[in-house]
Amino acid sequence: MRLSVFGHAGSYGAPGAQCSSYLVSATGTQLLLDIGNGSFSNLARQLLPGDLSAVFVSHRHHDHLADLISLYHYLSFVPGALRHPIPIYGSPETLEAIRTLVLADFGGILLPQAVRAGQAVEVGGLQVTFADADHVPGTLAARVSVDGGPSLGFTADTGPNPGLEQFFDGIDLLVGECTWLTRPDQAPAGLHMDASELASMATHSGARRLVVTHVAYPGNAVAAARLVADRFAGEVIAAFDGLAVEF
Ligand SMILES: [Zn+2]
Ligand SMILES: [Zn+2]
Repeated sequence: MRLSVFGHAGSYGAPGAQCSSYLVSATGTQLLLDIGNGSFSNLARQLLPGDLSAVFVSHRHHDHLADLISLYHYLSFVPGALRHPIPIYGSPETLEAIRTLVLADFGGILLPQAVRAGQAVEVGGLQVTFADADHVPGTLAARVSVDGGPSLGFTADTGPNPGLEQFFDGIDLLVGECTWLTRPDQAPAGLHMDASELASMATHSGARRLVVTHVAYPGNAVAAARLVADRFAGEVIAAFDGLAVEF
């Protein structure tokens, strides 16, 4: 299984960093987790966008879905680009946001597929399950695995959450959000994690390796990963656009 990072900035872009987008490739299947603003350019550098097997959109915020518009326009305008309609997995809340705010009509190009926490779907050779994250309504985290093979966890945006620690139990590679290096005093409870909160989630889930991502500028993933590594015994990897991890 292979993870490719197309965008790792938190909440808004940053110098040299686009917003959330992660490709999971295995067994000939290419599943995209989120497609935040700016990420389409990095995606198109690595694969023909029409070759995507499916896209999972974790929630309705623009830094996780804005470039669905780019994908939609590319597939609409470029002759031959659309190989097959592309399933878009998300909660009903997320799909409604896409429908009303982004695309009035999916046009037979994108196929909305509503999923909920606890549900499991097959995308090619990948099994994908979902759990509620502690963020805005309808935010889903995802666990992706190959039968008898490795597993990847994706926290989406979330505050600390014991339910997610269980959901990610024994995960091989955790892609974890770390919006803040340290939680700001004025921040509401939950919503996002800081470095110590992400380290705690990774530790309690027994993750083997951790990719630290979704760090909001002027914070950066290298600084966040350093703080996480002080508190988590597994391997810590700072995300960057273009990062690839085999596991
Ligand atoms: Zn976000
Ligand atoms: Zn968000």
